[in-house]
Amino acid sequence: MNATTATPIFKTKRSRLAGYDFDNIEFGTSHTDHIFMAEYNNGEWNNQRIEPFGNFTLSPFALCFHYGQTVFEGLKAYRLIDGRISIFRPEQHYRRMNRSLERMCMPSLPEEMFMEGLEQLIRLEESWLPGKNDVALYIRPFVIATEARLGVKISEEYLFTIGCAPVSKYYTKPLKVKVETKYVRAAEGGTGYAKCGGNYGGAFYPAKKALEEGYDQLMWTDAQHNEYIEESGSMNIMFHIDGKLITPALGSSILDGITRASLLQLAKDNGIKTEERKISYRELQQAFEEEKRIEAFGVGTAAVISPIACINIREKEYNSYIGSDALMYRFQKQLEDIRLGRSEDKHGWNYIV
Ligand SMILES: *Cc1c(COP(=O)(O)O)cnc(C)c1O
Repeated sequence: MNATTATPIFKTKRSRLAGYDFDNIEFGTSHTDHIFMAEYNNGEWNNQRIEPFGNFTLSPFALCFHYGQTVFEGLKAYRLIDGRISIFRPEQHYRRMNRSLERMCMPSLPEEMFMEGLEQLIRLEESWLPGKNDVALYIRPFVIATEARLGVKISEEYLFTIGCAPVSKYYTKPLKVKVETKYVRAAEGGTGYAKCGGNYGGAFYPAKKALEEGYDQLMWTDAQHNEYIEESGSMNIMFHIDGKLITPALGSSILDGITRASLLQLAKDNGIKTEERKISYRELQQAFEEEKRIEAFGVGTAAVISPIACINIREKEYNSYIGSDALMYRFQKQLEDIRLGRSEDKHGWNYIV
C-alpha cells in the first residue's frame, strides 16, 4: 500500500510475534498485533484506523448485547510459495457481508473501506505469515450495533472491526454426523443465508444434544419438511454419488459458501458433473441401502474440507467413503495448490496484496 493511504496506522509498541509459537497453534485462540476499526454514526462510516489489538469499551446497553444485530465474515490470507501474500476471494466475502448486513438492517460497508482496510492490515501483519508449517491468517471482519438504548429498535450506531488469527492446517478426523429432523437451523424467509450471530447461537443446543449421543455435528434439514438436507454444522455439504457432485441448491436458509462455489467450479474444471438441487435424507438413505459408494463432506473456509465417515439417518448408521482416492481429497489438494500458488490461478481467486 502506498504512503498516501487514507487509513492512519497506530502501531503497537509491543509486538507479540517474537515469542509466538507457530508450532502449536490452536484455531482462534490467538491474534495478531493489530486490528482495523471504523465507526458508523450520523449516517456514515468514520474514523477508519488500524490500531493495536485490544479490548473494546461499550455501554452495557449497546444494542448488540440485546437484539442480535451482529454480522461477521471469515476469510483467509496465505503466503504463496513465491513469498507474496494473497487473500482468497476477498471481493466475494465483501459482497456476502453486505448481503448479511442488509438482512439485519445494518449499514453496508463501502467497498473501498473494506478492501483498503483489509489490505493494509494484512500488509502490516505479514510477518505473522512465516511461510512454513502451513500457517495462514484467518481473518474475521465483523459489525456490531453499538448504540446505547434499551428499546427494541434498529441501531443508529455501529462498529466495524477486522481482526486476524494465525491458524495452521486444520487436520480434521473424519466426522460422525447425524441427520437432524426435529430442530432446525434456519427456515425459508429467515436469516439462514446471513452470517449473523443468532444463527450460530440457536444451533448450539441441538448440536450439544447430538454430541452427547456421540456425533460430532448435525446434518440440518429444511424447516418445512424436515427432510431435505441443507448444511452440516456450520459448513456447506457436498456428496459425491454415481460420479456426480451433488450439493443442496442455495435458498434463503442456506449460507452461500465461497468454498462451495470454488469447489463447484473445480468440479467443472475437472469435467465432473455437478448438481445443485434438493437432496432428501430418504434419497441419501436409499443410495446407502443400494450400497453405493458415497462421499460426504463439509466445506467451508476454516477447515476447507471436512470428510464425513458416518451418517446417522433415522437412527441407522451408514458409512460413507473416505478412502485416500476419494474425490474430496483430490479437490482439497487442488484448491490448496491454487491457494498457495503451486498451480495456475485460472479464475483469479488469489488477491495479491
Ligand atoms: C461461513 C459458513 C459456511 C461456509 O462458507 P465459506 O464462505 O465457504 O467459508 C457455510 N455454512 C455456514 C452456516 C457458514 O456460516
